[in-house]
Amino acid sequence: MLKSLELSGFKSFAKKSELEFSAPITSIVGPNGSGKSNIAESIRFVLGEQSLKSLRGKKGEDMIFNGSKAIPAMNRAHVSITFDNSKRMFSLEGELSGDINLNFDEIIITREVYRDGTNKYLINGSQVRLRDIIELLASVNIGASGHHIISQGEADRILNANIIERRTMIEEALGLKIYQWKISDGEKKLERTRENTEKAESLRREIAPHIKFLKKQVEKVEKAEELRVELSSLYAEYLKREEFYLTREKEKIGKEKSALTNTLRDVERMIGSIKDSLASRERNLETLSSLRRFEEGLRAIRRDKDELSRKLGRLEGRIEIEEERKKEAEANAQEEEGAQIPVSKVRSFAERVNSLLAEGETINDILAIKSLFVSLKQLTNDFLAILRENIPQRVIFSEEDFARLRSECVAVEEDIFKKEGEENSLNLEYMKAKSELEKDKDLSHEHERKLYELSAHRSECVSKLDILSSKEHSVLRDEEMMKTEIEEAKVLIGNDAMRYQTFEIDESSLMSESREIQEDRRKKMERMKIRLEDMGAAGGAELMREYQEVSERDTFLEREIGDLKRSAEDIEALITNLRDKLNNQFSEGIEKINKQFDEFFKLMFDGGSATLSIIEEKRKQKSIGFDPDTGEELYDESSEDEDIKYGIDIKVNLPQKKIRDLQMLSGGERALTSIALIFAVSQVNPPPFLVLDETDAALDEANSRKYADMLENLAKHSQLVVITHNRETMSRAGVLYGITTAGDAASRLLSVKFEEAVAVAK
Ligand code: ATP
Repeated sequence: MLKSLELSGFKSFAKKSELEFSAPITSIVGPNGSGKSNIAESIRFVLGEQSLKSLRGKKGEDMIFNGSKAIPAMNRAHVSITFDNSKRMFSLEGELSGDINLNFDEIIITREVYRDGTNKYLINGSQVRLRDIIELLASVNIGASGHHIISQGEADRILNANIIERRTMIEEALGLKIYQWKISDGEKKLERTRENTEKAESLRREIAPHIKFLKKQVEKVEKAEELRVELSSLYAEYLKREEFYLTREKEKIGKEKSALTNTLRDVERMIGSIKDSLASRERNLETLSSLRRFEEGLRAIRRDKDELSRKLGRLEGRIEIEEERKKEAEANAQEEEGAQIPVSKVRSFAERVNSLLAEGETINDILAIKSLFVSLKQLTNDFLAILRENIPQRVIFSEEDFARLRSECVAVEEDIFKKEGEENSLNLEYMKAKSELEKDKDLSHEHERKLYELSAHRSECVSKLDILSSKEHSVLRDEEMMKTEIEEAKVLIGNDAMRYQTFEIDESSLMSESREIQEDRRKKMERMKIRLEDMGAAGGAELMREYQEVSERDTFLEREIGDLKRSAEDIEALITNLRDKLNNQFSEGIEKINKQFDEFFKLMFDGGSATLSIIEEKRKQKSIGFDPDTGEELYDESSEDEDIKYGIDIKVNLPQKKIRDLQMLSGGERALTSIALIFAVSQVNPPPFLVLDETDAALDEANSRKYADMLENLAKHSQLVVITHNRETMSRAGVLYGITTAGDAASRLLSVKFEEAVAVAK
């Protein structure tokens, strides 16, 4: 399978050197320091070894030929290894599988390192990653740990190693490393999954209080929304009723007002006309004054009439008295005849009568004549009086006197009659005027009563109008309030504020409901508004959006956590499954190895026995440092977890010796034991090739022969490259290479024959 190896610039191999592995056993021989081990290392190198220590270097540059006196230093080290792939054993499963064509009879793996430390890996000339090389090799059971390359002095590495390291080595040798990788991949994945779970959980924890807060806010918003809906329908009903009330009231007030205004106008007109008619009272006053005049006239007439009556009475009484006197006188006539009257007096009387009559003869005016008569009468009366004085109780009326008196009476009676006529006619006028006045008085009383009534009616109207106007005022105030209410509603419930316009309420309910109920409704609304304002649920939409976003994020995280946990479970199951497989195959492998190991051991030591056993190593998982006194590792006692590791213990039983511990073996015995083990392992799971760098160094002649026999046996399954100084070993090789340094510190490679090899090796 291993076909050839080409080195150039690698360590001591300055020039291009090529080794062909055309036989099952290829032996490399040469003096100390010629560069044999560099060959083994070049194989480690080209297969991707990353440990510079196992390449005996400190940095990548140490791999490059660093020059000698004769040859200058190189800039890069180049190693190519060629495998036979006629059976198409190589495969790649990773992402590169499609990119790299492995359908060739040969697979050439190349690694180059440059002075700046950069490495280049190639498969059949195409540059690849180290990972691809490792994967490719793994497909043909060539592990990266290099268990198939036993370096010089490292034969007993497996004996020196602790039980856990031994297990790792054997696992790799058994080709079980793939499980370990898968397990480790799985663990890494699990770790990542757990980290992601933890991250998601922590994110969820982080947003939880925010969600809680938002939820509360959203609940508040929802409550506010409910309240708003309730308020909205309350508003609709309230505003509808208010609108109806206002329209109805305005209409009612308008009607009442116009009716009252009309009435008032009528009343005022009537009051005006009554007032006008009352103004005519002045005329009444005129009537009254003429009435007074009539009364005065009547009084004067009556006074005159009484005077005349009295005069008549006096005249009639005189007549009566004179008639009595006459009778008496007639009886006493002699007495009166003897009486004497001075002549002067009779003459004076006669002269004056004469003069008056003379005067009368010249007068035409009736009134003046009347007055003349009056004077005459007075004169006669005066003369009669003188007579009565001179003839006491003896003056007796003549018939003329009686006639005069009687005519006087008639005149007075006539005057009285005249006066009565005047009285009657004046009284008639008086009565007429009086009745007129009475009539006027009645009318004016009626008017005053009516005026009083109308005034009362007017003030009633005015006060009613006042009431109406205050009602109107209050309706207008209510209307203003409704407008304000609508504006407020718009702020609180938006367009829903206008919903009242289409809100339907039974007409009878609109008509019958009392104002108090509406007022209660308004108060209820006020309380709701205050509650709404207290809730301060502004920006609800934004809050809802944020809540939704955050909840979606939470749900997403929850789902992701679920997915991650499930995926962790799957990975855990896979890991358990892989562990089970690994353990089973490992146990089976150990069993097989044990058989071989014991056989080889017996062969090497001519008896005795050797076994590998799987042992458990329990460790507290959590290390909390080291004890400063004892240096022992300390664990967290409280931790329940235990990390159980399985390791490999080696038990040997030498013939005739009582060996309890591997440490008690001699160098040769250690070498034999480890060779027996290496060969046993290689026998159970033969590697494609095995490089053994002076593994036989410590063997004596007899054991060298046994070793060589075993080599031949092993070579049936694995190609062997043995670096040796041992003649016996060389003798079994099909191909021999000798390495020399011809004085210029650069290794030179040449194919040699057995005899030459023996010579070279020395
Ligand atoms: P032994 O038989 O003693 O084990 P060997 O043949 O195995 O010897 P190596 O150990 O392979 O010898 O070779 C070591 C030699 O390679 C040393 O002489 C060392 O100087 C040389 N060498 C190592 N690295 C370089 C390098 N980078 N450039 C040149 N020479 C190097």
